[in-house]
Amino acid sequence: MCGIVGYIGNRNCLGLIIDGLKRLEYRGYDSAGVAILDKNNDINIYKKKGKVKELESEFNIEDLSGHTGIGHTRWATHGEPNDINAHPQTDMSGNIAVVHNGIIENFKTLKKKLEKENYKFVSDTDTEVLANLIQYHFKQNNNFETAVRYALSEVEGAYGIAVLNRSVPDKIIIARNGSPLMFGLGKDEIIVSSDAAAIINVTKNVIYLEDGEIAVLKYDSFQIKTITDEDIFREVQRIDYDIEEIEKGGFEHFMLKEICEQPDAIQNTYRGRINFQTGDVKLGGLETVKDKLFNAKRIIITACGTAWHAALVGEYMFEEYCRIPTEVEYASEFRYKNPIINKDDVIIFISQSGETADTMAALKEAKRLGATTIGIVNAVGSSIARAVDAGTYIHAGPEIGVASTKAFTCQLMSLVLITLMIGKNKGTISDENLMEIAAELKLIPEKIREIIERKNDFKFIAEEFKDSRNFLYLGRGLNFPVALEGALKLKEISYIHAEGYPAAEMKHGPIALIDENMPVVFIAPKDSTYDKIISNIEEIKARKGKIITVATQDDNEINNYSDYIMRVPKTLPIFSPILNSIPLQFLSYYIATARGCNVDQPRNLAKSVTVE
Ligand code: GLU
Repeated sequence: MCGIVGYIGNRNCLGLIIDGLKRLEYRGYDSAGVAILDKNNDINIYKKKGKVKELESEFNIEDLSGHTGIGHTRWATHGEPNDINAHPQTDMSGNIAVVHNGIIENFKTLKKKLEKENYKFVSDTDTEVLANLIQYHFKQNNNFETAVRYALSEVEGAYGIAVLNRSVPDKIIIARNGSPLMFGLGKDEIIVSSDAAAIINVTKNVIYLEDGEIAVLKYDSFQIKTITDEDIFREVQRIDYDIEEIEKGGFEHFMLKEICEQPDAIQNTYRGRINFQTGDVKLGGLETVKDKLFNAKRIIITACGTAWHAALVGEYMFEEYCRIPTEVEYASEFRYKNPIINKDDVIIFISQSGETADTMAALKEAKRLGATTIGIVNAVGSSIARAVDAGTYIHAGPEIGVASTKAFTCQLMSLVLITLMIGKNKGTISDENLMEIAAELKLIPEKIREIIERKNDFKFIAEEFKDSRNFLYLGRGLNFPVALEGALKLKEISYIHAEGYPAAEMKHGPIALIDENMPVVFIAPKDSTYDKIISNIEEIKARKGKIITVATQDDNEINNYSDYIMRVPKTLPIFSPILNSIPLQFLSYYIATARGCNVDQPRNLAKSVTVE
């Protein structure tokens, strides 16, 4: 996964490309690079290990002028992150420059073939092979577009690419298969990007490229084709959010901003979709598959990472409230286990970016097996959103922080809405209960605000535990996945080892870890699991573990058992995972910042995982 930016038009483009790359750094930040075509049609390349900022120190923006260029911020898959492996990669003559997102799976075979033709390679990347392959075909037929198409027809794997050719300086060619790519249409300029973040300050009119397509871009026109040379007509779409929404808006980090955006984000998830009096839910995107969903004999939910935790909460909801047997699968495992899919199964795919490669691969397998597929996705127009039979957008707004926060709680809210819709239809939730849930749903944004107001309490606890080396997170029922998510959040951004368990499982093994240095976070809402949780707390206390609880506001009893308490307002069980997640997000955020970690761009991670 990586970020790609390209520009062809009437401006000096280096600054624009650098600016775009900075906005895409969440997609990878192992190295950055640009290739600018100057007025002599020479390709000037600057690339460097590390972030875009480090690249910037390599040149003086004024010294490098050119109206056509491409740029890349890398998340290495082939070859270590260093200057040579950074993109743009060129063919050996330096005529063709390529930036690439994805993996050329058969690059070794292609490399051998080119080596036989005396092509020489300097990097370890699969991308350099592609640059040479394009040059190879260009030499044969002297047509840039044909050369790219021919090269790609030999390629197996995933790519989003942008290509410059110094012999054809009036064009950029882009293509995609499995990695996102779009371009924005300005006045006498076109800007290419992996996502809207780098485009939106130039134009809101965009075109999404589909898999298997190539586009030839000139400053004032474009042409889309399939790799196999069929013409494609594609409508221009309008992006409906602003640049401010992608920027930090006064917060120190995107992650903090996104945690604090949750009241509005959640409201956007349910806005216009529920009748607060009756609890009736209408999800327009699911209309076409409604009957399938109501009659499903089984639901499978598949996802990765944080979205997989949302899926686990979904499993509890669908079983408890809809009485539909539900299974949760890691998307990365789904297609390797020869899944048994029946015609009455419905499979739900959850992905913030809608580009998660493992989830996409599972989706393709599910479709091949004839299942009904539903997406729960944030990024509008993303690959998963387009490939599913039907879907619902969570409308969380762009999530830039690598550690997912608002997308998680909005995924949970989407699952609540689907639960209510099915439960009403099947009669597994009574009208009275529906009304009660709908009335409470309306209060959730305000209750999240109350939690956010307590952020200094969470910060205080974080300071106390910032030097801990391990953490345990325990919860039961609907809140067991919340424990998993709390642990993941801490691991991701603070690099502290943390595990989540169902609270009762702890005595079957992990309790051996408990001593006076082990903080244990209990998610302990006042619900039917409360007494059991208290017993589990006692077990830890007896072994001198430090107890941090996420507890209901008016629960005084918990004071007797807790060393530290993070309070959340009282709510119905179905919403408790949403509220309980928020103190845990703050806890990990403040621990990570107290440890001096880069919370928005944690090491080894990238926001949208577009490789399998
Ligand atoms: N496979 C390419 C590389 O390792 C591109 C990786 C990316 O998507 O950033 O250089």
